[in-house]
Amino acid sequence: MDLKAFYNLSYGVYLCSSWDEGRPVGCVANSAMQITSNPATLAVSLNHDNYTNQCVKKTGYFAIAILAEDSNPLLIGKFGFFSSKEKNKFSEFPYAVRGKLPVVDDCLAWISCKVIDTMETATHTVFLGEVIDAGVLRQGAPMTYAYYHKELKGKTSPKAPTYIAEEKQSAQYVCKVCGYVYSGATPFEELPDDWVCPVCGVPKSQFEKR
Ligand code: FE
Repeated sequence: MDLKAFYNLSYGVYLCSSWDEGRPVGCVANSAMQITSNPATLAVSLNHDNYTNQCVKKTGYFAIAILAEDSNPLLIGKFGFFSSKEKNKFSEFPYAVRGKLPVVDDCLAWISCKVIDTMETATHTVFLGEVIDAGVLRQGAPMTYAYYHKELKGKTSPKAPTYIAEEKQSAQYVCKVCGYVYSGATPFEELPDDWVCPVCGVPKSQFEKR
């Protein structure tokens, strides 16, 4: 079995949200798809370890926010690398209740759903949702998983041979939380004290020199 076959599937980057006793919760999901258009039905897959998973089960509602290529990358960092159990991830970003669910403002569009069925796998729950409301907030290019890896994380990776040569001489700093690698064109001997990870927002102490 050649698992590289999966690399040819395309995925988006979404924030899946719900409520926890009136508190907004959410996580990053890359597997969401429209199942039917009439009645509009959506499926999303959430890991059992995501706190949002149990909140969706409890409330029976979820929304997805469709991120743009130019959405704040900190959204992915905060929603993707921390748990809603300990942290109100929405507290740092403008959001509104849309279609009964919390949705960040910095997305292209949102779709909110009522859970009508679930399917369990070894690691994930697939939620089938009947769409109760949806809206478009702005125009733009939807973020894809490939874009996130290539452009947001890979932006600092050298492509031109000359750039590689420069980079070999400079230190790289790797985020222990999200894996982001800083290897800028202007290398730091040491990261500045006020440095924060551009992806997940953790401070300098969470970076390792490579
Ligand atoms: Fe990070």
